[in-house]
Amino acid sequence: MYSVIETHFHTVASGHAYSTVLEGVAYAKKYGMKGLAITDHGPEMPGGAHLWHFGNQGAMGEEVEGIKIIKGVEANIMNFDGDLDIPEEFLRKLDWVIASYHITCCQPKTVEDHTRGYINVIHNPYVDVLGHSGNDDYVYNYEQVILEAKKHNKLIEINNHSSIGRPGSKERCPIIAKLCKKHGVPVVVGTDAHFATKIGKIDLAMEMLNGIGFPEELILNLDENRFYQYLNSRKRPE
Ligand SMILES: [Zn+2]
Ligand SMILES: [Zn+2]
Repeated sequence: MYSVIETHFHTVASGHAYSTVLEGVAYAKKYGMKGLAITDHGPEMPGGAHLWHFGNQGAMGEEVEGIKIIKGVEANIMNFDGDLDIPEEFLRKLDWVIASYHITCCQPKTVEDHTRGYINVIHNPYVDVLGHSGNDDYVYNYEQVILEAKKHNKLIEINNHSSIGRPGSKERCPIIAKLCKKHGVPVVVGTDAHFATKIGKIDLAMEMLNGIGFPEELILNLDENRFYQYLNSRKRPE
């Protein structure tokens, strides 16, 4: 099964990914999808994209070969004050901002610290979604953060790759998803693809979500209108 909009895709600009935007577009088209978010790693990730990569994404235009291009980033959360490696002047040019903890940028500490970090990130008006938060290294107070996300119209990512690539995520992702269901917090299912052929394939995550009876209407990127309705509902600073 494929998503309609891929919300998490890394190109060669990430340094450890292996496809271009055009290759991503070709596969999104082949898989019958409608949109592709370009979410390369921020500059503090070793090999990550330079800030100018994020400032110049308008160069790609709005749509290529019938696939909508969503200008994005996977920003690194740098500390528990919620600082990101992308300054506001660059964030404001983007359509879609994922914020994630990565071991190279922010050393794990305590549950309280991870929770405080996420809550501070949620308060950043440009952040849309917390990336792969089921990670074992950054356990947090799930309910507290999910309720804060709800309050600020933010999303939680269910990362298809986590089911295989991140220790502990297989156990933690259903806990997170159940809390999103309980509190009516919308999610996106992203692949975190580092190669174009992997775009849109969300079988593992969908199996988990279906297994807990997760409501389809809360999965924003299974429907183009639903996804864009969310983007239009955000209150970003002028
Ligand atoms: Zn990566
Ligand atoms: Zn990541």
